[in-house]
Amino acid sequence: MRGGREHTPPAAAAAGARDEAGDRRALERRLRRIRHTIIVLSGKGGVGKSTVAVNLAVALGLDGRRVGLLDIDIHGPSVPKMLRLERASVEAADDGSIVPVEIGGLKVMSIGFLLRDRDEAVIWRGPLKTGVIRQFLRDVAWGDLDYLVVDSPPGTGDEPLSVCQLVGEAAGAVIVTTPQDVATADVRRSIGFCRALDLPVIGVIENMSGFTCPGCGRRLDIFRTGGGERMARETGVPFLGRIPIEPALGETCDEGLPYVHRHARTETGQAFRRVVDSILERAGR
Ligand code: ADP
Repeated sequence: MRGGREHTPPAAAAAGARDEAGDRRALERRLRRIRHTIIVLSGKGGVGKSTVAVNLAVALGLDGRRVGLLDIDIHGPSVPKMLRLERASVEAADDGSIVPVEIGGLKVMSIGFLLRDRDEAVIWRGPLKTGVIRQFLRDVAWGDLDYLVVDSPPGTGDEPLSVCQLVGEAAGAVIVTTPQDVATADVRRSIGFCRALDLPVIGVIENMSGFTCPGCGRRLDIFRTGGGERMARETGVPFLGRIPIEPALGETCDEGLPYVHRHARTETGQAFRRVVDSILERAGR
């Protein structure tokens, strides 16, 4: 299971041999065992989409759900780093399926596991990306899952398009934004994208929303707040909640420790809890 420099995703060899109907059936068989797929989208990079995806997956697991996390950010996979799985690689099972990496009960698959070194750049055109995403959904031994959380690259390119087209009906999108108007403008495009694909929008999360000074306890709205909520109201999609700026959230994730695992009782831990509850209510339990 290696990809990268020769630009041959693992799907390519198998894909030719498999007839299309059989391929579709194999995909459906796999997806039938996944109750809900949550595709985490953002209009632009750097708004905390991967941070939210990882912490959401971990929080759902802490809630007793069976969870998978699929990282399809082909050009910049950050899930392996956020879970300290940079050295992990995946194995093929006897039946030819791919065994995902498992950590604390969470099943994880990332394009990062297929790259030889983490600085390697992946230069794939759309059809190759679609092929590898299809293989991640069809061939990874996800087993029975309550939730598959998909961390998609920012924007509305080939990867989110492929995953939305492949996963079928039991899916919804969570859109992550920061509060500034410039970021929320991009979210409108993400909502338009979901609507064009008939993908239900579970809701919008406003990340980096306000900061409580640990010294004096005063709340500072560094990027202002409320832009995500306002935009959700204007576009008629649910608002799932705000996650404050929390230096420890950035640090723990950058060090490979999902924040919600360790800091459930903090303001930010509880903000995640509320977001998870809203998602469970809307996506289905
Ligand atoms: P994206 O997936 O949208 O590109 P990331 O999840 O990689 O964004 O986050 C970008 C950076 O911001 C990372 O260093 C991350 O740790 C940090 N970060 C994300 N959310 C927060 C937050 N609420 N508070 C502080 N830092 C955050």
